Amino acid sequence: MKIAIIGVGTVGSAVATAVKNTGFVHEIVLFDKDGVRARAAAEDLGHAASFGFDVKITAVNSYRGIRGSDIVIIAAGANQKPGETRMDLLNKNSEVIKDIIPRVMANVDVKNVKIIMLTNPLDVMVMLATKLSKLPPARVIGTGTMLDTARLLTILSRQLGVSTQSISAYVVGEHGDSSVVDWTGATVGALTLDDFCRQMKISLPETTRNTISHRVRNAAYEIIRGRGATWDGIGAAAADLLRCIINDEHRILTVSCVSGTGNDMIAMSLPRVVGAGGVTATLKPKLSTKESSALRRSGKIIRKNYDAIV
Ligand code: NAD
Repeated sequence: MKIAIIGVGTVGSAVATAVKNTGFVHEIVLFDKDGVRARAAAEDLGHAASFGFDVKITAVNSYRGIRGSDIVIIAAGANQKPGETRMDLLNKNSEVIKDIIPRVMANVDVKNVKIIMLTNPLDVMVMLATKLSKLPPARVIGTGTMLDTARLLTILSRQLGVSTQSISAYVVGEHGDSSVVDWTGATVGALTLDDFCRQMKISLPETTRNTISHRVRNAAYEIIRGRGATWDGIGAAAADLLRCIINDEHRILTVSCVSGTGNDMIAMSLPRVVGAGGVTATLKPKLSTKESSALRRSGKIIRKNYDAIV
């Protein structure tokens, strides 16, 4: 399994580390418009690889070097500076994706390749990459709210005193400020969240839930304020998605991919079944009226920003 990573900054390097540590790939090629940075990352990662799985890691100085890649991960583009929103990156990063996708497509097997998008604003970039690549939407997948869902599970785990593995709860919609926590569908150990709280005598009123939703939406801002950027969470999310595809696991992940056509075309995160073919099915989450209207609003925000760049 050969993987290409385009953009080897903070996120691309963290993704390479996490992917290397899965043991599922034999070769990772790195491309960055800053060739010195890509070569330095390949050196450092190569040294790290000598302590673990035997993965060949090289920097390539042209897109010809990504030939033979089964999956291409796009982590290139500007990141948020403190106080910036993901949508603030829209114009800069749409130019980056317009530069990258045609070059990628000229050097991959269009019948099989999958593209994993990480560049923000994520959902709009997924729409743009799908349009430019002309690939089936099922094979252009953004990590979307996988990371937001992980943030929700982490907070809930601490609040409820059970492992994240025993909680099933999703964040859906935009990977951004309008993301929506699906409180209605949340379960813990096969009980509804409300039943679990009742049995365990835990109080989780609406005000607390609103605070948790707020913390999920603001997690990236907090991390950027503290360490300048985010990388560990997204590295792990990308590697988990990659593993799900490589192993044809058919796990349900909140990833972003395009659905609908024409004016109804939209990419956002919903619980989706992911396997070797990419996204194989999409589930309609059980939402309250308020959550449904928040999800519609989230879709409108994504679509409005997409319309502004095409
Ligand atoms: P960074 O500045 O550290 O690295 C970006 C890299 O992209 C640089 O090395 C740059 O040279 C390269 N690049 C820019 N334009 C390019 C082009 N046209 N071709 C090839 N390479 C190019 O930024 P980062 O912190 O690594 O963030 C990268 C992206 O990932 C940002 O858009 C950021 O917002 C996003 N991100 C997404 C998530 C998520 O959950 N999806 C999480 C964190 C960050």
